Amino acid sequence: MTVILAIGGTDSSGGAGISRDVTAAAQLGVMVRPVVTCVTAQTDQAVEAVHAVPTDLIGRQMQAALGDAKVGAVKIGMVGAGEVASAIAQMLEGCDLPVIFDPVIRASSGGMLSDKMGLSPIVTRAELVTPNLDEAAWLSGEKTEDLNRQALLVRGHGTCAVLVKGGHGAGENSCDVLFLGDRQLSFCGPRLTQSRRGTGCTLATYIACFRALGLDLPAACGRAREMVQDYISTGHEKSRL
Ligand code: PLP
Repeated sequence: MTVILAIGGTDSSGGAGISRDVTAAAQLGVMVRPVVTCVTAQTDQAVEAVHAVPTDLIGRQMQAALGDAKVGAVKIGMVGAGEVASAIAQMLEGCDLPVIFDPVIRASSGGMLSDKMGLSPIVTRAELVTPNLDEAAWLSGEKTEDLNRQALLVRGHGTCAVLVKGGHGAGENSCDVLFLGDRQLSFCGPRLTQSRRGTGCTLATYIACFRALGLDLPAACGRAREMVQDYISTGHEKSRL
């Protein structure tokens, strides 16, 4: 069976986080080994509490989960405290696996989930980082309409690919743009009128699963995006939220 490692937080509302990762991966017949960085008390309206798991216990979970050769890719979501990022990056040193990083900073309710400071060791280690427009601006320290510049700023001195998600932008169509080396690939479709929690987690998990299943990065991003569109289209109409 194909297996991925999912590193992230729990969400007591069930909308996002590790439980969402497990459900998304199961759709593709992929098993998740979960590594919990934070336990959160959340509703769809608010982040009520965040409890960070001690860094050494995060390391122990990773060690145990990576203990055999079965894991095919790593998905990282909510990291929590910035200093945890370097511990996670260190644990992944020497392990030759595609790492997909969804840089979760806030829940859609507005509550803070991660400290953006200190995330760079994971950005550097990742094969792909998947920020939405706000996360990209936050990570890069600059808000710009120029997605190419935004991606370069997110990448910093590293070499990772960057998938800038346009779902929260305006306009009739929404595009996610993949910056991969010198290449730029756009995945576009009509902007959906529905909304769902956990779309960022779901996209990054699908991409990690498709990488573990052997697809290359552009194909994994394209297939994952199609599946997320299906996931969103069964959500609530935005006006009802
Ligand atoms: N809570 C946790 C634990 C998450 O990992 C994430 C996203 O990855 C979120 C909340 C954010 O999800 P949403 O944007 O649906 O609020």
